[in-house]
Amino acid sequence: MDDVMKKFLRYLSSGDFRVPVCDNCGTKIWPPSNICSNCFSKKIRMSKLDSKGKLIEYSQSFIGERKNLGLVEMSGIRIIGSLSQGNMSPGSTVRLTRCGLDKDNSPYYEFSFT
Ligand SMILES: [Zn+2]
Repeated sequence: MDDVMKKFLRYLSSGDFRVPVCDNCGTKIWPPSNICSNCFSKKIRMSKLDSKGKLIEYSQSFIGERKNLGLVEMSGIRIIGSLSQGNMSPGSTVRLTRCGLDKDNSPYYEFSFT
């Protein structure tokens, strides 16, 4: 695992969602990587994003507990997370309310409708 991914997961585990951003050209590096895909710089900082996003699409999962899953775009990056009840239509505004690592150390994201 590279350093940027480690930093990303360390922030995430404390509920702090930070995205790697290239210090040289400002590109958001998603998924996290050690090198900027735009200018190949390795100067990367971890930056907080606006917690607001837009629902792109959603589906329901019936595996285990019933969940609404949504694909959300936040500041140009796309994340899959669980959704609270609300206006399930593409284009709705959602907000990242919780994130972290679950017991298997997989990232999770929870969104609610604003
Ligand atoms: Zn760059």
